[in-house]
Parts: sequence; structure tokens; C-alpha cells
Amino acid sequence: MEKLQSLRGMVDLLPAQLPVWQHVEAVARDHFRRAGLSEIRTPLLEVTELFARGIGEATDVVGKEMYSFEDRGQRRCTLRPEGTASVVRAVLEHGLLSQGPQRLWYGGPMFRYERPQAGRQRQFHQIGLEFLGAADPRSDAEAIAIAWDLLTALGVSGLALELNSLGDASDRAAYRQALVGWLEQRREQLDPEACERIATNPLRILDSKNPATQAVLADAPLLIDHLSAASRQRFEQVRELLDRLAIPYQLNPRLVRGLDYYAHTAFEITSDQLGAQATVCGGGRYDGLVEQLGGPATAAIGWAIGMERLVVLLERAGATGAAAPVPAVYVVSRGPLAEAMALDLATQLRRRGQAAELDLSGAAFARQLKRADRSGAPWAVVIGESEAEQGLVLLKNLLGGGAEQRLSPSAVLAQLAGSAG
Ligand code: ATP
Ligand code: MG
Repeated sequence: MEKLQSLRGMVDLLPAQLPVWQHVEAVARDHFRRAGLSEIRTPLLEVTELFARGIGEATDVVGKEMYSFEDRGQRRCTLRPEGTASVVRAVLEHGLLSQGPQRLWYGGPMFRYERPQAGRQRQFHQIGLEFLGAADPRSDAEAIAIAWDLLTALGVSGLALELNSLGDASDRAAYRQALVGWLEQRREQLDPEACERIATNPLRILDSKNPATQAVLADAPLLIDHLSAASRQRFEQVRELLDRLAIPYQLNPRLVRGLDYYAHTAFEITSDQLGAQATVCGGGRYDGLVEQLGGPATAAIGWAIGMERLVVLLERAGATGAAAPVPAVYVVSRGPLAEAMALDLATQLRRRGQAAELDLSGAAFARQLKRADRSGAPWAVVIGESEAEQGLVLLKNLLGGGAEQRLSPSAVLAQLAGSAG
């Protein structure tokens, strides 16, 4: 029969790859706990309207990249392309804001129908943070510091924090007008996609990956020059706080982020080691989103880290965490009585908290013992049919020159797990 393959852009994570993922997850979990964040888990599948409203029809994510379909009940559903909209939906659905500001984190798979390439998949993973009910500039600096320090704690180096302010809605309206006027005069020099966006999402043009369009944009008006005094002052406060925290940043007036609900602080953390897909972490303030999704006006800020890109950076830096754990005991057996005893002993060891690996191959002792050596376990339990008939096993020290003891299973348990069977 023909073998089946995974869908394009859907990537398996094999056992040999998972230790580094588990390392990142463990470090992140501890980091978030110390920052006073709580985890939230939301469904992978949501009504399409959540993203249409929460991200915006004019974005690439909603316009081109969503996995949407009708379910058997004729509901329009979408596999989540990002975490924020779902988190806000869940917070509103369960009235969590009535308990005060929410400091949340999440992790898991996201789905975007993009062209797969290095650092870009159709199912990928993010870990992210959301502060809901956080208006103070300190929350911007705190959110950024949590991302920066997490990446640093994991051992990623060569990172750059790029920072911009998108101002508030009226700053952006003024800027949008100035930008549209400027772009209209240069329509002939822009690529078709950019031309289309003049009407739908002109700010997004600044983010264009087309080199010719980028060249035209070199002296386009900048949003930063259209900020009100209050917005400018707020941005200065955030920058001063980052200075105090010794977090270096570069101002990037072209950083606009793809999603419509961002306001004020926008940032990306990039690495020069990721090629074209250089952004590891993207985030910013989204003061308008909660209201847009039917909730009370609520200031908010968040970010998301792309796990695949982070893992690549850790592998490059050789900072992949501890090696895979080795078993404490490797259990070798041959013959029906011995094999039953081996299963029993391995299970008893595990019930007492020991990592016991059981060889089920039934192969010759020499082959099984070779695997025992390779496993790195300090001890092997060897059970042959003649020992089994006497109710005994051999306990072999694999590190100390192979000394052997003939013991009862309960003596093995006492020696290796500190308790008798
Ligand atoms: P990009 O410009 O790279 O498409 P984005 O603006 O679409 O990024 P966000 O929506 O901000 O990305 O997502 C946050 C992070 O998630 C990105 O910085 C990146 O690390 C990761 N990410 C986004 N899309 C993908 C993808 N298709 N495959 C792998 N990682 C991704
Ligand atoms: Mg994208």
C-alpha cells in the first residue's frame, strides 16, 4: 500500500527533537510563574468571526492565511491563527475581568496557510503573554522585560529589540490620511499588492517584503512624526523604563505589525541568525481589541514567541538544556519465567519512582546487555531462566566494572528504590 504523508507545512516533532522543546517549556513555565502569570488554554477551533473581527479582514492573516471551513452544523469555523483573540474571547465569556486585571500566558499550535519555508510552517507553535486591564507604561516595559529575560535565560544571544509607537486611534487616523495621500502620488511605482492595500490597510504597506516597494517607501512620512504630545510622552516613558531595566532597543519607525488592533508600543525581537524569517517575538499594545470583541474598554498588551524559530536559535547556540534522562535500571531477561519476573520487577521499580527500562526483545543476553550499556543506566538487572526458577536475579553494576550480586527481587527494590517489595 502507498504510504501516507503529513500535509504540506505540517511538521512532526520526533522523540529526538523533543528534549529541547520540553526544556523551553519548562524554563518558560517557571519564568511565567515567577512573574505572577497564570496559564490559560483555549480551543484550537473557534468561530471564524472571532478572527475576522479581532484581527481584521484586511490583514494577511485573515485575508489569506486562515484554515476555515464549515462544520457539520453549517458553522463557519477557523483553526486559530494566533492566540490573542481566543484569550480575549475566553476572558470575556467567563467574566474574568470582573476579578481584576488578568495576567495570562498560553502555549500551543497555531495554523496559517502560508508558503512553507525555513522558519515558516502551516502548523507552528507559539508561547505568548497577555496583560488585560494594564494601561500604565510600566506594563509595556514589564511585558517586554519578561520576553527579553526569557530569551536571555534560555541562552539565546545576538538578539535585537526593535521598538516603535503606533500612537492612539486618532494619531493613526491623521497619519493614515497623510500616508494615503503620499502613496496615491506614487501608485505607479508600487507593486499591485501595495496598490490594493492603499484603500484597505495602508499601514501594512510599510511592512512590505517587496524590495522595489521598500525602496519607494524610503522617504514616506513616518507615524512617529504624527504622534500627539501625550502619545509621544507615553512612548518616552516606556523607553526610560527599558533603559532602567538595561534592555537595549533600537527605534524602528517602520515597525507596524500586521494586526489592526495594536496601539502605542509595538515591538519585535529579532535575531541575525534566522535569515529572512528573523522575528522570534512580536507584540504590542492592543487597547482597542477587548471592546471590538464586545467587552468593556480595556487597555491590554501582549506578545508571542515563535517556538520553531526559538528552537533553531537554541540549537545554533548549543543551549538545548539537559541531555535526555538516562534510566536508573535496565532490565534484561530471557525465558518465559524470567520475562514475567522482569516485567514485574520493572513495574515495581517504577511504582517506587525509579526510571526502569525493560528490554522486551527476547534477544540473546549479549545483545540485551549491549543495549543496557548504551542506555547509560548505572545498573542492569539480569534474569535468566535458572535464576528465575530460584526466585533470584542478578544485579549488575554497569559503571563499576560489572560487579554482580545474586539477590531476591525485594532486595533489588530495597537497594535501588529504598524499599522492600
Ligand atoms: P512574519 O512577519 O514572520 O510572518 P507575523 O507578524 O505574521 O510574522 P506574529 O503574528 O506576530 O507574526 O506571530 C508571532 C511570532 O510567531 C512570529 O514572530 C514568529 O516567530 C512566529 N510565526 C508567525 N508565523 C509563523 C509561521 N507560519 N511559522 C512559524 N512561526 C511563525
Ligand atoms: Mg505572518
